[in-house]
Amino acid sequence: MRNMALVELTLDGERNKVDEAIVDLRRMQPLGGYCLKFSGGKDSQAIYHLSKMAGVEFRAQYDVTTVDPPELIEFIRENYADVVFNYPETTMWKLIPKKRIPPTRVIRYCCDVFKEKGCPNMNMILTGVRWKESRRRGKRHKVEICQAYKKKTFLHPVISWEESDVWEFLNGIRSKHCCLYDEGWSRIGCVGCPMANSEVRERELNRYPKIRDAYWRAFGRMLEEIKREKAYAFEEFTKWKSPDDVMEWWLHGTEQFYDKHFIDGQQYLFNGDYYEHYELEA
Ligand code: SF4
Repeated sequence: MRNMALVELTLDGERNKVDEAIVDLRRMQPLGGYCLKFSGGKDSQAIYHLSKMAGVEFRAQYDVTTVDPPELIEFIRENYADVVFNYPETTMWKLIPKKRIPPTRVIRYCCDVFKEKGCPNMNMILTGVRWKESRRRGKRHKVEICQAYKKKTFLHPVISWEESDVWEFLNGIRSKHCCLYDEGWSRIGCVGCPMANSEVRERELNRYPKIRDAYWRAFGRMLEEIKREKAYAFEEFTKWKSPDDVMEWWLHGTEQFYDKHFIDGQQYLFNGDYYEHYELEA
């Protein structure tokens, strides 16, 4: 496939990002194939189609988080019939009372539970991580050994791609995409994810009022648990008197909390970015 947006001029000549990804996929192909982490978003669509073009063996897996946008699930079911749905043993609504805190940007137990435990018996994992997605992801490497589970290795075939490269590629092969992109969503994933800013999260929760209500009820059960056990992890949690208080803090009040309790470089109580605790071995 030759698309000018996907060709870079370098001192060594032209570099075609599609060809390069295909070469990487073939070169790193393990016995038994890859586990391809498929989110239904554009980046994982790209690695799915690149893997098909490379002719490598893989098992594409979608990790259900119980706060998935319905349109995304529908899109995957309609267009990627071979994607395996990996259902969790619990739900976000049970996890919140159990953890005594809603998931936050620095306390992301939900990623750990829902997204980072899949791929049993498969040790080479493909992801759509890209450098341009965030400052933290800008420090990642194309091939990484998992620090948590040493047998596992990650390959991020499109790590150097720009967002425009991904769209050029998908449009070039006439791939469909989830309708939420057409409504202005730039990243598609869990509804209310704390990694997004307040405006985006408000928009998501307004669009899915049933999910907003489910968070609200989970906050209520969480408060009952906290009161029952007097398990206040942080003194400011004693100010929460109702699910509305928690919702307000969760959507708008967490910044001061981060400033008070976490300092740069050590802020991760649980895991960081999706796959963030998988770092290169020294
Ligand atoms: S993507 Fe966001 S909401 Fe979903 S599991 Fe990870 S931190 Fe939680």
